[in-house]
Amino acid sequence: MPDIRKSVLILGGTGEASELAERLENLARYRVITSLAGRTLDPRRTSGEIRIGGFGGAESLATFLREEAIDVLVDATHPFAETISANAARAAEISGTRLLVLQRPAWPQEPGDRWIVVKALQQACQAIPPSSRVLLALGRQYIAAFTARPDVHFIIRMVDRPDEPLAFTSFELIIGKPSADPAAEERLLRDGKVSHIVCRNSGGDGAYAKILAARRLSIPIIMIDRPTAEAEGAFNTVESVLTAIA
Ligand code: NAP
Repeated sequence: MPDIRKSVLILGGTGEASELAERLENLARYRVITSLAGRTLDPRRTSGEIRIGGFGGAESLATFLREEAIDVLVDATHPFAETISANAARAAEISGTRLLVLQRPAWPQEPGDRWIVVKALQQACQAIPPSSRVLLALGRQYIAAFTARPDVHFIIRMVDRPDEPLAFTSFELIIGKPSADPAAEERLLRDGKVSHIVCRNSGGDGAYAKILAARRLSIPIIMIDRPTAEAEGAFNTVESVLTAIA
């Protein structure tokens, strides 16, 4: 029997992508494929089919879309994953596939927040006052620039243990995902005598607890702003993408 379900390819790597895959699967009307870059050793469990690894650029992604007869491409990648989003837009254009972009809104600055907003990693590195104790809450591919600050003690949080020894002068490592519990994040900040946090404005709930904890403890955050403005016509919620697909 031919498969008459609509095929949806989700470019994932975010909680929203997993939620979308699960909700589409539950509807049982779609073939759902989630694509992951393969950056984390133990990715979150996701419903439907999974493919892992790069496509080899926009043209190859377009070929995949054609060969797999994808009806809808959803770019649900992280707001700082710029290359794959640009590739998704180009591949959708080449192949004539419908593209929906799911992008969680940036966190707004709330009363009590002490943010130093910067545009890039280099600027974040320069914004750290001398002799600070910094929680570096960035992905492992973004931390190298901070080795230029031997005067700063870094508490580095990353999901997987690094493959190579880190070139920081003074640091400690925390392996694991950020806690969703502001009280746990508050403990971490107090115990580590953290004076500053460096993070990116990722948006969403998963990493927000540290923002709440910093607000409570009045700890300044050096906040790296998003690299690009929100894509035109982007959807902010899983619900709205589901409606658009239906
Ligand atoms: P990126 O710089 O935009 O992408 C680099 C390359 O990785 C892409 O050109 C593509 O390779 C491959 N790639 C990225 N996402 C992919 C996906 N979902 N499926 C298949 N290939 C993918 O991306 P990144 O910042 O390294 O992030 C990689 C992944 O981790 C993304 O899927 C993102 O959602 C997730 N993530 C990123 C962050 C972050 O801070 N950037 C945080 C949490 C999760 P080819 O050109 O060979 O196709």
